[in-house]
Amino acid sequence: SKRGRIDRFLASRLQIPAKQAQLLIRQGEVLLDGQACSAVDRIINEFTRIECQGQLLQALTPAYWMLHKPAGVVSATTDAAHQTVLSLLPDEAQTQQLHIAGRLDKQTTGLLLLTNDARWSEAISQPSANKYKHYRVTLQNPLTEAYVAAFAQGFYFDYEGITTAPAQLNIISDYVADVILTEGKYHQIKRMFGRFRNPVVALHRYQVGQIVLDDGLALGQCRPLTAEEIASVA
Ligand code: URA
Repeated sequence: SKRGRIDRFLASRLQIPAKQAQLLIRQGEVLLDGQACSAVDRIINEFTRIECQGQLLQALTPAYWMLHKPAGVVSATTDAAHQTVLSLLPDEAQTQQLHIAGRLDKQTTGLLLLTNDARWSEAISQPSANKYKHYRVTLQNPLTEAYVAAFAQGFYFDYEGITTAPAQLNIISDYVADVILTEGKYHQIKRMFGRFRNPVVALHRYQVGQIVLDDGLALGQCRPLTAEEIASVA
């Protein structure tokens, strides 16, 4: 179905007279995107979730994608000036009303998740034990053991008035570390290393919760999530 009035949609779909459809709406029996429909002439489209008397009449097919985000592409679905991550997805995904579950900075590479399932993206964004975000970070200056304790302790961010949750820093080599976060504040990793006046040269996310970036995906490539990956976000 396309754009049109909800009462006409119901009449046609349920094979009932328009007057009866309007009565159902007035009785509060019709939910649009989970909210009681407030007017008989509300305009709906093919993306509106429509329920009537507990029966689901229309819903988007849930869609879940992983993308290997390249640098230089913005984590947005529309942008006037820059290429967006959505433009890297296939045509079928363009019509799925996707949003980004956990954005990455323009120059950050790696695992980006897109879905049209708002409950799922909220769940994966919850700071909880099994929703860790894993990053590989390359620094301009050498790392020292002092970083490990500082990351575990947390940093106070003046601008937001918050202290970062304990983060795990694993030193891989002089200039490379893995950082595991439970949250995603604005430019969080860059700002954490900024406290040591150590600029981040490259930032790559390789895992979110149980979902690991597929090493078969080249930069800019994507694939639908598997049933196990989708179900891992409870
Ligand atoms: N931290 C950052 O600074 N940038 C990102 O893209 C992700 C985490």
